[in-house]
Amino acid sequence: MTSHDVDPLVARMRPFGTTIFAEMSALALRTGAVNLGQGFPDTDGPPEMLAAATQALNTGHNQYPPGPGIPELRAAVAAHQRRFWGLEYDPDGEVVVTAGATEAVAAAILALCEPGDEVVCFEPYYDSYAASIALAGATRRPVTLRPGVDGRYAFDPDDLRNAFSARTRLVLLNSPHNPTGKVFTPDELTLVAELCQEHGAYAVTDEVYEHLAFTDATSGHVPLATLPGMRERTLRISSAGKTFSCTGWKVGWASGPAALVSALLRVKQFLTYVNAAPLQPAVAVALALPDDYFTAFRADLQVRRDQLIDGLTAAGFDVYTPEGTYFVTADITALGGTDGVGFCRTLPERSGVVAVPTQVFYDDPEAGRRLIRFAFCKRQEVLAEAVTRLRRLPEVR
Ligand code: PMP
Ligand code: GLN
Repeated sequence: MTSHDVDPLVARMRPFGTTIFAEMSALALRTGAVNLGQGFPDTDGPPEMLAAATQALNTGHNQYPPGPGIPELRAAVAAHQRRFWGLEYDPDGEVVVTAGATEAVAAAILALCEPGDEVVCFEPYYDSYAASIALAGATRRPVTLRPGVDGRYAFDPDDLRNAFSARTRLVLLNSPHNPTGKVFTPDELTLVAELCQEHGAYAVTDEVYEHLAFTDATSGHVPLATLPGMRERTLRISSAGKTFSCTGWKVGWASGPAALVSALLRVKQFLTYVNAAPLQPAVAVALALPDDYFTAFRADLQVRRDQLIDGLTAAGFDVYTPEGTYFVTADITALGGTDGVGFCRTLPERSGVVAVPTQVFYDDPEAGRRLIRFAFCKRQEVLAEAVTRLRRLPEVR
């Protein structure tokens, strides 16, 4: 046997195949289906931001920027957090620019976790979390979010308490939450904060949908770092991709106390070193846009959310109304579905639409077996076409 006969991939990465987003987007391309799978908008972000990027490209912002990010962007990130959340971060030392939120999450976990440490997270979890935890040699301790009779996803507080142990190093919290659309309430966050403090754990928060808690959510978005005792133990992560409809730019950032940010940067510098020089000044412009931009963006997404919910309901799905994000989840049981993965793999053929099965984001696949996710960050005519196609689904079956 030669070394070529064995899988060269390290064992800790073998459970991770191609991401479901890549698989489903490829399926959409292949079949010509409407892609409501991967969460990317089909319109461009604010023109001021695009103009600033073009200008930066044409005026020499094309070489390595400083390691932590350009000063204008770090200042804009700090000002934005002060404006919207009343959080104070020093742009020099408490803010670092990353290659999207994905790199920030990975660098945070790699920086903070020793092999064998435990990371408490909520499932369904964003797929990169599991891979980053595995790369660090840490263990994930998922707490399951389940839809309740009120249609809201919630967790059992005892499950959360039981997920903490002497090995807990950090809690990874995503709110507003992908894929469920859950916005964690102040009470839920208080429990997370108490348990973090009780166990001396850090928190890493993924808040890429911070501007997408809808007006009818049980509560608005509350950053965990704003709770008593949490700023000093939280790395708060966000990104331009979702708020400014530029998911391909991969400009993200992390903020927190200097020691945590410095730890993250020590890892980040050896992952990508720096990123996206000409896009950084453009994101600084976007973050400084007036409040109206953020309000209108959310209102517009809320209209599209409602359009898709109505359409999915008319097509026979049981829909869980999301309180935030780009996504709506639906139960396939009423349409005869028993397994989301199989359902989504054949959906393009059966109805010309792509969705994502959420069961791949659980350690306990049973909990998500009948749930699938649709993205509504698409033009209204695209959503209308998807709904028209889905409404024919029962006839095709
Ligand atoms: N976290 C969550 C919850 C996401 O939905 C996404 C996708 N935008 C990311 C992280 C990745 O963000 P980015 O593209 O900035 O790396
Ligand atoms: N965040 C996007 C989603 O949830 C996907 C990003 C990716 O493909 N990694 O759809």
